[in-house]
Amino acid sequence: MAYITLNKTHFFNNLDIIAQLTCGKDKIALVLKDNAYGHGLLEIAQLAQEYGITKVVVRSNAEAAAIEHLFEYILVLADIPKVPSEKIRYTINDTAQIEKFAKGTKVELKVNSGMNRNGVEMDELGTVFRMIQTQGLELEAVFTHHSSADEENEFYELQKSNFEQIKKEATALANEHNFETLRFHSCNSAALFREGRLEDDMARVGIAAYGCLELEDYGVQEKLQPVLSLYARKLSSRTLNAGACVGYSATYKADAKCVVSNYDCGYGDGFLRACSNEYVTPQNIHIAGRISMDNSSFLSEAEELLIFNDARVAAKYAKTISYEILTSLKGYLKRSVVEG
Ligand SMILES: *Cc1c(COP(=O)(O)O)cnc(C)c1O
Repeated sequence: MAYITLNKTHFFNNLDIIAQLTCGKDKIALVLKDNAYGHGLLEIAQLAQEYGITKVVVRSNAEAAAIEHLFEYILVLADIPKVPSEKIRYTINDTAQIEKFAKGTKVELKVNSGMNRNGVEMDELGTVFRMIQTQGLELEAVFTHHSSADEENEFYELQKSNFEQIKKEATALANEHNFETLRFHSCNSAALFREGRLEDDMARVGIAAYGCLELEDYGVQEKLQPVLSLYARKLSSRTLNAGACVGYSATYKADAKCVVSNYDCGYGDGFLRACSNEYVTPQNIHIAGRISMDNSSFLSEAEELLIFNDARVAAKYAKTISYEILTSLKGYLKRSVVEG
């Protein structure tokens, strides 16, 4: 079976760099959604706790329950609990959700600053604060999410200035409704690196911690180190004569006599089929033909093959982003921690 290694040295290096930007580990909220971006929820949660991370972000109640014992603060992005929790905060993504939360639930309000995906509208904050108070919820924070922090265009600055406005209004409304002092957060990885220094109370950091942030002109690629590597094991080998073809639809044809081996990793495991035919491994080994469900063939005799150690490179072949390469990796693949 294909397997994954997680490089602890790289992960801690990335967290060191992030902690410098946030001015402290306690202002990092490490994003662990989607099986910690395919790295393994429990494996990454344990390493993060060892490093000194106290705050994390997940998608669901089930994810929160699995790692609750390791952290002081957990933000759930998209779920509604049956009962309030001391540690877990829940996101209000829409006004219609407010009445679904039980009295006493700790909530954080997501405000739409221009991405137009989730969050209440800026011009309905007054109504929303009243609804939250009527429902008896404990509002702790107000936050937003950027659509374009990793690109050079006008949206980032526009959302940033909208969030400044949101902060002002929310602070005044919190006073009016006698809520405790609100916390504010808006930065994902790209926004944090772009800003260079955090002004909010916390940053929600995912891809940078996993070492795969791509941000032109900020020199981050060199400093961050990818945490995850994918390996496969050889199932069989054969010698091909010139003209012989490999795999479904016979898309690879040998120019000359060569050895081809089949490895136990396919699109069913998360090695995207879009990497077929063109892919070359970090050790310069060429793929032969199409990736199938549980198999892929390479021009190699090695017993084991490093398929990728930088999801950004694999993403180029598949014409996608590292996030999709990573989150496609199936949960059943064995993950082990390595150092160095
Ligand atoms: C996924 C997510 C993040 C993390 O984004 P990265 O680009 O991986 O740092 C932050 N905030 C929210 C709301 C998210 O959904």
